[in-house]
Amino acid sequence: MRDYPLNKIRNIGIIAHIDAGKTTVSERVLFYTGISHKIGEVHEGDTVMDWMEQERERGITITAAATTAFWTPSDAEGNVDKKVKINLIDTPGHIDFTIEVKRSLRVLDGAVVVFDGVAGVEPQSETNWRYADDYKVPRLCFINKLDRLGASFDRSFQSILDRLSPNAVKMQIPNGHEDKFIGVVDLLTMTFVQFEGAKGEKVVRSEVPAELKAEAEKERAALIEKIVEHDDSALHDYLEGKEVPVERLKEILRKAVIADKIYPVFCGSALKNKGVQLVLDAVAEYLPSPLDIPASVAVDNEGNEVRIEPRDDAPFAALAFKVATDPYVGQLTFFRVYQGVLTAGSYVYNFTSGQQERIGRIVRLHANQREEIKEIEAGNIAAAVGLKGTKTGDTLCDPEHIVKLRGIEAPEPVISLRIEPKTKADQEKMGLALRKLSDEDPTFRIRSDEETGDTIISGMGELHLDILVDRLKREFSVQANTGQPQVAYKETITTEAQAEGKYIKQSGGRGQYGHVWLKVEPMERGQGYEFVNAIKGGAVPEEFIKPTEKGVQEAMDKGVVAGFPLVDMKVTFYDGSYHEVDSSEIAFKIAGQMALQEASKRAKPVLLEPIMKVEVIVPEKSMGETTGDLASRRGQIISVTDRSAGVNLKVIEARVPLSEMFSYSTTLRSLTEGRGNYTMEFDHYEPTPSNIAQLVIEGKK
Ligand code: GDP
Repeated sequence: MRDYPLNKIRNIGIIAHIDAGKTTVSERVLFYTGISHKIGEVHEGDTVMDWMEQERERGITITAAATTAFWTPSDAEGNVDKKVKINLIDTPGHIDFTIEVKRSLRVLDGAVVVFDGVAGVEPQSETNWRYADDYKVPRLCFINKLDRLGASFDRSFQSILDRLSPNAVKMQIPNGHEDKFIGVVDLLTMTFVQFEGAKGEKVVRSEVPAELKAEAEKERAALIEKIVEHDDSALHDYLEGKEVPVERLKEILRKAVIADKIYPVFCGSALKNKGVQLVLDAVAEYLPSPLDIPASVAVDNEGNEVRIEPRDDAPFAALAFKVATDPYVGQLTFFRVYQGVLTAGSYVYNFTSGQQERIGRIVRLHANQREEIKEIEAGNIAAAVGLKGTKTGDTLCDPEHIVKLRGIEAPEPVISLRIEPKTKADQEKMGLALRKLSDEDPTFRIRSDEETGDTIISGMGELHLDILVDRLKREFSVQANTGQPQVAYKETITTEAQAEGKYIKQSGGRGQYGHVWLKVEPMERGQGYEFVNAIKGGAVPEEFIKPTEKGVQEAMDKGVVAGFPLVDMKVTFYDGSYHEVDSSEIAFKIAGQMALQEASKRAKPVLLEPIMKVEVIVPEKSMGETTGDLASRRGQIISVTDRSAGVNLKVIEARVPLSEMFSYSTTLRSLTEGRGNYTMEFDHYEPTPSNIAQLVIEGKK
């Protein structure tokens, strides 16, 4: 049984530049929704699990991948029909985790973007905003920290207009700033709102103070003009001088927000307990429910497109968007149900792994408790306990109706480092812990260096790996030493070549006999690897094909230039021979390795390096030095544009090899007296110039 109608569900995320106040805002959201739930709801029915007590001790869960809360709008006046269920989906703030931002954007229907009221729009807010544009996520803005010294609502609002979208509209104005900031004027209803009580939990409305009236009226007129633009009949009335009722304005605004055409802007101070409830009201009022977003498109087993709609009476389909390891319950797999209903105890099919899994327990996380639920319906978010074979981005579906939803593409990990357990005991734990972490995070990979036996981990950036190593210590109590971060180079071939691999030992006793001819050919960048079995007439028996391929893969992992994995090549096994007695799987595996190495060496192999897309924002006067510095890092400048009129900031877009970007932030700071900022993400792999490749081969770079 559905506990909430679909139109009352809001799956939202809070997006923010690091330090803008995401944690504080989230904490307030969970606190206020907790209160509102207690007031609004007498019956708390569902089974609350034993470990709820432990959870309580741990306090509010703000870092869970998804937390469920309930909100009764502050102006609902006890009308519980207005209550909404909010699934708050965690989004990370740091650019190193773009995949995390993207995967959360994939499953949420709307977002609240938080800004620092002193700094306004910052480079990372821009990057995240653009991702949200890509995924067409409707947004509200919250200009936070108005209590801070130097805060300015107008300036921050202007930075949103200039840098993010001209379609931002002020929904409020503050009565003042810094320690004078006590409340906001809600422009639509023309009321003054203050927040009383120890944690600002009481929303108190009163008349707009006289000194704010003129400004509020002017801003209200501007807001209404922006709203009625989206509705012909309201526009007509407005132009005729007729008053458009507030309820009507809200309806039009809701439609425009959902269509991604308008971005309402709110303000306050989360730390000083001001303003967050009105943002929650707006989440209920303006952000979409699962019914308001376009149906998803999936493909079935035959590759036909299937429409997936938020209906309970259709086959189950869900997307796993986060796998998290919880020290208390073990593995939690968070998923969003796009269609149908999932019941605890039933089986689902994982399209990606091709396996069925049984869903044992389903849980929902709240601010300070977990709730075991029997079933979960379309449009909702929950976590399954103990799924073994499901990773981030996998589709789970009804075994009778197999579909694949659009997944979450993982970008290439570009940085790697060696990691070594400190003791024997750590060694055992480390392998397991690393595997768990990589199941959680598709951009985090593990491999072992065949020669040295060392474990090498790779990820999206220095910080990404730092955090993972730190988690190893704190969550899994694994002590490890790590090496210097290194660029994750790759290797590829540039022409076609053939070679023979012979592993033959036939002196006394049982011998070895493996004999393989391989052809290697370059493929397009990003194509990976393809193995073709073209053996004819039983020259090599079927049972030795797989072992040969295994040998090929192992040799590819080792590379032939500088020990980095070979990629983007097609390998054809087209001839060879065998011996009735002496041939074995291992002999063919070794022969396969030998042939692959030799063929790749003949095929003019090169080293590939990751090229990053870098965006640097600097004051105009530091422009020359900054571009000069980027050029000295082998950077290619793509464009230089003005940030916005009157700000004197330039945006430099460049492509720069990652190996030249270590500790760039320090350089940028000194070039720009601390005013420069940059973001960086992986763009593509490119052959490394030979002088640089030589340094890499010699281990000097
Ligand atoms: P996050 O990095 O985006 O999660 O930001 P946090 O919520 O951790 O906040 C970063 C810092 O800003 C912390 O020191 C907060 O106490 C502070 N902060 C958050 N909200 C406000 C606010 O409204 N006013 C002031 N003055 N400080 C705030």
